[in-house]
Amino acid sequence: MGKALIIGCGGVAGVAIHKCCQNSEVFEEICIASRTGSKCDALKEKLKDSKTKIKTAQVNADNVEELIALISDFKPDVVLNLALPYQDLTIMDACLATKTNYVDTANYEPPDTAKFEYKWQWEYREKFKEAGITALLGSGFDPGVTGVFSAYAMKHYFDEIHYIDILDCNAGDHGYPFATNFNPEINIREVTANGSYWENGNWVETRPMEIKRVYDFPEIGEKDMYLLHHEELESLGLNIRGIKRIRFFMTFGQSYLTHLKCLENVGMTSIEPIEYEGKQIVPLQFLKAVLPDPASLGPRTVGKTNIGCIFRGIKDGKEKTYYVYNVCDHQECYKEVGSQAISYTTGVPAMIGAMMLMKGIWKGSGVFNIEEFDPDPFMDALNQWGLPWKESFEPKLVD
Ligand code: NDP
Repeated sequence: MGKALIIGCGGVAGVAIHKCCQNSEVFEEICIASRTGSKCDALKEKLKDSKTKIKTAQVNADNVEELIALISDFKPDVVLNLALPYQDLTIMDACLATKTNYVDTANYEPPDTAKFEYKWQWEYREKFKEAGITALLGSGFDPGVTGVFSAYAMKHYFDEIHYIDILDCNAGDHGYPFATNFNPEINIREVTANGSYWENGNWVETRPMEIKRVYDFPEIGEKDMYLLHHEELESLGLNIRGIKRIRFFMTFGQSYLTHLKCLENVGMTSIEPIEYEGKQIVPLQFLKAVLPDPASLGPRTVGKTNIGCIFRGIKDGKEKTYYVYNVCDHQECYKEVGSQAISYTTGVPAMIGAMMLMKGIWKGSGVFNIEEFDPDPFMDALNQWGLPWKESFEPKLVD
């Protein structure tokens, strides 16, 4: 059917690329392009028996001209951005210049301010509209599947949704006292920031990890979870009819929190550069260099993840509750694609988002968040491509 250019060759990209190769009818040809060209070549070698034709390239995705040259040469139907949030805008600029569709999994974050929000990417709406191309923002799990779940709940079960609680549980155990399941820099910036939730059109800010709840997750059991700010709250607050409050909770074990507090207290999570032996270094980037590479956690991580959304609202004048979630097993993911479940639950929806645009199932000129499209084909694809979901109409609620 077509061609996709995948930028980045880390944990999430590795899964998305495996999935594209399993789906060779749609992804006839892909180009894997990343900062470290040898990683792309190594993955190509691993997948050499796939029907999908694979090219590789080295690219610095901070450089718009390099990206334009790469896109003009490969001529993909879609660019799937699986590099870091810092590269979103340069890649969008290159897509505009070459009139190519764009998909990502995380919203733009300026490298020097640890603040992620959609405003920078939403400013591209008119330009994408005029160019007649689609940008699909946030096609991972959260954001991503959580937005699709919300659109699905809205379409099939509610006239108005009043409350959404997004619950992200990782009950995986990698055996290290402290490691992050995806890019440590992005992960630590997210969890050391103030928390916030969206209520009646306003943000309510909390101190980091201030709000704690215990939830009994299906197929996992009771876990401590903490309220965090999360990017999909911003778009769901605009796109869900009748919404009054949206909260996001993530589980953390005590060992992770104790280590994080200690690292924070000594200044290792700071993004302010310091001078060390005549050289400027960013403590958080140095910390990243000493922590285990998330890609190396796959073989040692056991247990499951459960990510889903609890909705409360009104249907035909009556109160209604609905919970939809996916449970994913770290070891099964590893057996299938050589990665743990965190990368898997992000990489699969990234492939599906690209497929929705390549097949023309989702179309439109402009910049869109995932809940703005018809959720049904995406929900079917989740079942088909490794992230089956379950539902419950009488879930335990979060107080
Ligand atoms: P990794 O750090 O494992 O991979 C990032 C990749 O991007 C690496 O291959 C890296 O290259 C490459 N890269 C970084 N900078 C550049 C650059 N300037 N030019 C070209 N390539 C570059 O991260 P993950 O795979 O864990 O995460 C990928 C994305 O997915 C992130 O944006 C993350 O926020 C997002 N994410 C989204 C989730 C969701 O549910 N929505 C959940 C988890 C992650 P190199 O190998 O040289 O370092």
